[in-house]
Amino acid sequence: MVHWIERAAEVIGENEKYLTELDAAIGDSDHGANMARGFAAVRGKLAGQTRDDVGAILKTVGMTLLSTVGGASGPLYGTLFLEAAKVAAGKTEIDRATIQQSLSAGLAGIQKRGKAEPLDKTMVDALGPAIQAFEGAAGLSLAEALARAAEAARQGAEATIPLVARKGRASYLGERSAGHQDPGATSMWLLLRSLAEAAAE
Ligand code: ADP
Ligand code: MG
Repeated sequence: MVHWIERAAEVIGENEKYLTELDAAIGDSDHGANMARGFAAVRGKLAGQTRDDVGAILKTVGMTLLSTVGGASGPLYGTLFLEAAKVAAGKTEIDRATIQQSLSAGLAGIQKRGKAEPLDKTMVDALGPAIQAFEGAAGLSLAEALARAAEAARQGAEATIPLVARKGRASYLGERSAGHQDPGATSMWLLLRSLAEAAAE
């Protein structure tokens, strides 16, 4: 779990400019900076944390993202990790069921808070298909199932390109938001890809 978060922090840092460029097209050019700031803070927090409770680790991540990312995405990513933390509370190991329940609880939390439905051109469009792919990969190893989930998230993020945004700042653009990939769906894909890579190692 810690390895995933550290890897995620690295990948978000490497893609800060890319995420900012995506947000420049349909938002206010801060998604890369928001996420990089948040994950840098998370990295610092985790360095000083005991590592025997998965729920506690996820809670630290969620609280830190909530207080450092800002924008629309900060509370939403904070919610994702805090809901996952509730599922994993007290656990010293993570298994398939925990991952599936954590991601599902996280998605439900994001949708409760942000009211986005599928195809509204948000991070939901990456996370939703990822969970479906993970559930549909029951016959595969955990690492392979997570790789399938990450691939579904990538496709989901790419599939936001033609969509007209119905939630968040991009929705102010109306039809002009079409033709651009959603930044939050893209960062969600990067996080899930990091999870798959961490599991594969
Ligand atoms: P802001 O839009 O406040 O500048 P960010 O740029 O950090 O915040 O994040 C923008 C991303 O947040 C969008 O690309 C989208 O994926 C996500 N987002 C915005 N509003 C919502 C919402 N209501 N539900 C789900 N995701 C949302
Ligand atoms: Mg923005």
